[in-house]
Amino acid sequence: MGAPSRLMPTSPRLFRASVARSERISESFQRVTLTGPELSGFQWIGFDHWFRLFIPLTAGQGLVLPTVKGRSWWRSYLAIPKASRPHCANYTVADFRPAGDQSELDIDVVLHRDAAGQLAGRVAIWAVGVEPGWPAGLLDQGIMFDRPDGADSVHLVSDATGLPALRGITASLPSSVRGTAILEVPTPDDSVSLRVPAGLAISWVHPAPGQAPGAAALAWLEGAPPADPEAYGFAVGVSALAAGARRIWRRQGLPKSRITFVGYWKP
Ligand SMILES: Cc1cc2nc3c(=O)[nH]c(=O)nc-3n(C[C@H](O)[C@H](O)[C@H](O)COP(=O)(O)OP(=O)(O)OC[C@H]3O[C@@H](n4cnc5c(N)ncnc54)[C@H](O)[C@@H]3O)c2cc1C
Repeated sequence: MGAPSRLMPTSPRLFRASVARSERISESFQRVTLTGPELSGFQWIGFDHWFRLFIPLTAGQGLVLPTVKGRSWWRSYLAIPKASRPHCANYTVADFRPAGDQSELDIDVVLHRDAAGQLAGRVAIWAVGVEPGWPAGLLDQGIMFDRPDGADSVHLVSDATGLPALRGITASLPSSVRGTAILEVPTPDDSVSLRVPAGLAISWVHPAPGQAPGAAALAWLEGAPPADPEAYGFAVGVSALAAGARRIWRRQGLPKSRITFVGYWKP
């Protein structure tokens, strides 16, 4: 997957935080709010600002975090004994409210289920069961959205996992930018209101029962007017959606340099 690293901080900072609250915000999303004095130093840059989330493996366990040197942290993470090594997954800053020691950072977690209808995914299970005071860590990873200078037209595509990223991007774009955003979310209840430039049209699509993840958004993109070759395309979500959107845009003449596509998860 194309995961540009050039917008990643060269010395990403690791923050220790704790859970302030967790609440269901729609049919498929749980919002976990983190707080703590260290977050007073967090610099939110908007767009798709993302981070590595570290959570203890079991309830009540302390949080052991890796040592970060420059951009290196993985070896130190693997060196933590398995019994105390935290779970790590990638998430987007859904919102950040600076307020000194009371600063708050929201994470909007997609609640996905297995074939038997049971909640699946370690972070989703953590998000619905987490209690105030539980520890979490986050390693700042910067942004991947990389609109070239002069690209006044953008095309955005994602599934539910990319909704926080697309919400951050549309709210961060200058008002002169025009384009389209296609968002595939499980149900109409997940279609939240977004702050978007006036010239950016949003299409919410919902998968039909049994349809593969990302297929409804891809079908919508196929049927949309072709992208202008001077535009910028940004596609995230299930890997088939990110790669499929890139294929469509390439066929329509959008150069590789004007596309960012990142598989956020695989079935
Ligand atoms: C840069 C970046 C930003 C991201 N931001 C967000 C975000 O803000 N909110 C968010 O919810 N996700 C986000 N994701 C996606 C998230 O990292 C993945 O969904 C990840 O698998 C969740 O971690 P986990 O440890 O709970 O999953 P695991 O426990 O590793 O997953 C267990 C199983 O669940 C399946 N699975 C994972 N996600 C989904 C899903 N959405 N639907 C159906 N099945 C799934 C996997 O295939 C796997 O088999 C982001 C990913 C990236 C790369």
